[in-house]
Amino acid sequence: MDASPPNPQEPRCSGVAATRLAPSPTGQLHLGNARTLLLTWALARHLGWRILLRIEDLDPSRTRDGDIERCIGDLTWLGIDWDGAPAIQSTRTSVHLHALDSLARAHAVYLSAHSRSQIRRASPEQDALHAPHGIASVVRFPPELRPPHPGPEWIGTASAVRDAQDANLRLAVGAGTERVDERAGVPFDADPLALFGDPIVWTKADLPAYHLAVCADDIAQGITDVVRGEDLREAAALHARIWRALGASPPRWWHLPLLMDAQGQRMSKRQGSLTVASLRDAGATPERIAGFCAWSAGLHDGELVPLSPSSLVAMATGRAIADWSRAPRAGELGSRSTLDDRAIGWLHAR
Ligand code: GLU
Repeated sequence: MDASPPNPQEPRCSGVAATRLAPSPTGQLHLGNARTLLLTWALARHLGWRILLRIEDLDPSRTRDGDIERCIGDLTWLGIDWDGAPAIQSTRTSVHLHALDSLARAHAVYLSAHSRSQIRRASPEQDALHAPHGIASVVRFPPELRPPHPGPEWIGTASAVRDAQDANLRLAVGAGTERVDERAGVPFDADPLALFGDPIVWTKADLPAYHLAVCADDIAQGITDVVRGEDLREAAALHARIWRALGASPPRWWHLPLLMDAQGQRMSKRQGSLTVASLRDAGATPERIAGFCAWSAGLHDGELVPLSPSSLVAMATGRAIADWSRAPRAGELGSRSTLDDRAIGWLHAR
């Protein structure tokens, strides 16, 4: 596989604001995913942004036959549409390799064969890290474990990675803070090295890692506004650093509050939370799901009512989304962000 530059024919959104819907097709979409995706879509349509669909199936071992079609089917059923053909992340290796190659040529990546327990011992505070999607096993890799530079572990081109066995490739993250241009809240500064240490950018299974792939794809696709769940807010500081290392100006970010279940836990695919498919099978309508999303995000002051896609778009102003995201748990909105029996009953009513 070579690290040729991204295909110049790739549809790119130059000059227009653009966002992406980036679901992972592993497991079924749950109501929390649906809310984030529907509100992203409605905000983008309200503001006239282009919308790209990118299916994030980086890890083929976790994607089963039919998962991508099921995911696209759920989105379509919800009333979500997008501009152009869907991009399938696992087919974009040349884009990811090209990004890896630029980092390697800047002497910013190195091979690391450290085991998880070696890293844990060197970085005991890592358990406090708020990991992407709550994967508590994300381990902060402390810079003290970097190999001496210069040295044989520092890779000069992406092609050298393919020969490496049993080692992950990590990005040497420099010290200092990054500004995250947060639009669904307030812009903030955060230190990606303190939060994440040196993240894996290419795995020993010869796959691009999430942090590299998401930045390389967003840049190559011309994304200006990244809208996603607030569990990835801290990751934006690392992503801003990677964007700049790849020669691009970071985008604007909109991190939206997560939907909580009745126990106050955020919904997760792993726990088999209420899925779009189970709602559909039980007779729930897309209009009720859209109505629930608007009500729970405080886009109107009234009671729960079914909504058409165009009504949802009309309500999803940048101001409304930002106001909700700044104070998602305050007052009345706090209880609306928890999926209680009344809301579940309403969603299922015919
Ligand atoms: N694919 C990720 C997910 O399933 C989203 C990544 C992102 O938006 O940066 O949640």
